[in-house]
Amino acid sequence: MIDPCSLEPKRLLNIEEALASIKSAIQPVADVEQVALVHALGRVLAEVLVSPINLPYDQNSAMDGYAISSKDIDADKPFALTIAGTSWAGKPYQGELASGQCVRIFTGAVLPDGADSVIIQEQVVSNGRSATFPADCAVFQNVREAGEDIRAGGSICASQKKLTPVDLGLLASAGISDVPVFRKVNIAFFSTGDELTEIGQPLGRGKIYDSNRYTLAGLLNDPCFNVVDLGAIPDDRRLLENTLKDAAQTADMIITTGGVSVGEADYIKEILAKNGEVNFWKISIKPGKPLAFGKIGQSYFFGLPGNPVSAIVTFQRLVAPALMQLSGRVIAKPLRVLAVCTNSLKKAPGRQEFQRGILTQDSDGSFFVDLAGSQGAHILNSMIRSNCFIVLSKECSGVNQGENVWVEPFNVWL
Ligand code: AMP
Ligand code: MG
Repeated sequence: MIDPCSLEPKRLLNIEEALASIKSAIQPVADVEQVALVHALGRVLAEVLVSPINLPYDQNSAMDGYAISSKDIDADKPFALTIAGTSWAGKPYQGELASGQCVRIFTGAVLPDGADSVIIQEQVVSNGRSATFPADCAVFQNVREAGEDIRAGGSICASQKKLTPVDLGLLASAGISDVPVFRKVNIAFFSTGDELTEIGQPLGRGKIYDSNRYTLAGLLNDPCFNVVDLGAIPDDRRLLENTLKDAAQTADMIITTGGVSVGEADYIKEILAKNGEVNFWKISIKPGKPLAFGKIGQSYFFGLPGNPVSAIVTFQRLVAPALMQLSGRVIAKPLRVLAVCTNSLKKAPGRQEFQRGILTQDSDGSFFVDLAGSQGAHILNSMIRSNCFIVLSKECSGVNQGENVWVEPFNVWL
C-alpha cells in the first residue's frame, strides 16, 4: 500500500506541529462580562475567585447524635449526661454547654459553645431527659470545622476554568451570586459544494444532503459560543470569497467544510492569501489530510474536509483545542489509554491515523478495542458505532491481533 502523502512535494505538518502552529496563532478573547451564577454553566471564568466566607461557615455536626465536651467523658465506665436542649440545622441551641450536660444534635447543626465532640445516636441510650454514653467514647469526632473545606479569602475556583455543575454548587455555597467570565466566541460556519441539498428538498441525481452542517452545529453547541449557520454555498469562487469576507466582519472564527481538497483548494488558499493568511492547508493525518488553517481579516479560519468523518476527526483534534484557547480556557489533551487490539489493522506508513474503534473493559480492568467497521472517510455508520479513536503512528505499518494500541475514548462511560 502506498500512502498518497508520500507523493506530496512538500513534507506535511504532523498533528503536533499543526497544533503548535494553531497555538501560537490564536489570541484568546479578552473581554470580560459579569453573569449571574444561574447562567454561568459552561462559561469560562476570567479570574481566580476567592471565598468571602469560611466553608463550612460554622463548626457543625457531621452526624445525628449528641454534642458533648470531651472533658465529661469517662474512660472506664458508661456515663450519663443531662440533655440540655436540641441543636437543629438552621436552629442552633442558644445556650452554652455546662459540665455534665449534652445537647441533642442533628447533621449540619451548629455545635453549642463548650462542645467539641459528637457521639452518634446509635451509641447512646436516651430517656428524653438524660443520655447514657459508652465508656471511653471517641473524642473530637463527627465535627466539621469552620473553614476546613475553604478558608475565607482562599481560592475557590481557578481562572480559565470552564464552569461545571459542581463549580456552580461550590460558588453558591460561598454566596457568590455572579461571576466574571470571558465573552462568548462568535463562530460562523457553512458548507461548500454544488452537490449539497437542504434536507426537506427532493434529492436530484448526483446530489447529497448536507449533513456536515448538522454535525457541526452539534459540535459547536456550547455555552461559550454564539453560532451563526450561513447555510450551504455552491462551489463559486466569488460567492465563497464574499461569504467569507462578510462573515469575517463579525466572527472570531469561521469554519467551513468541503472545498479544500485538490483542485478546489486553490480557491480557499487564494482567498485566504488575498484577504488574510494561510498557516497550513494540508496535514499528515488520516482521515483529514486536506485541512486549511489561517485568517481572513481578523477572523480565524478552519477549512475542514467535506467527507463527514474527516470533518469530525479534524474538528475534534484541531478545531476543538483551538476553540478552547480562543474562549480563554486552558487547553486540555484527550485521554489516551493502551488497549489490546482484537483485530488486525491495515495501515500504510506515512500518516498518523485515527481509526474508529469500540473500546471495552473486562472485569480485571483491562482494555480491549475492536474495529468499529468500515473506515471510509464518508462512512458515518462506523463513526456512530465507535466510542474511541485507535491512534496509529505515522510509522506504523499495520497491527497484529493481540497487540497493544493507543486509544482515545470520546465517552468515558463504556
Ligand atoms: P470535498 O472536500 O468538497 O472535496 O468533499 C469531499 C466529499 O465530502 C465529497 O464526497 C462531498 O460530496 C462530501 N461532502 C462535502 N460536503 C459535505 C456535506 N456538507 N455533507 C455531507 N457530505 C459532504
Ligand atoms: Mg466539494
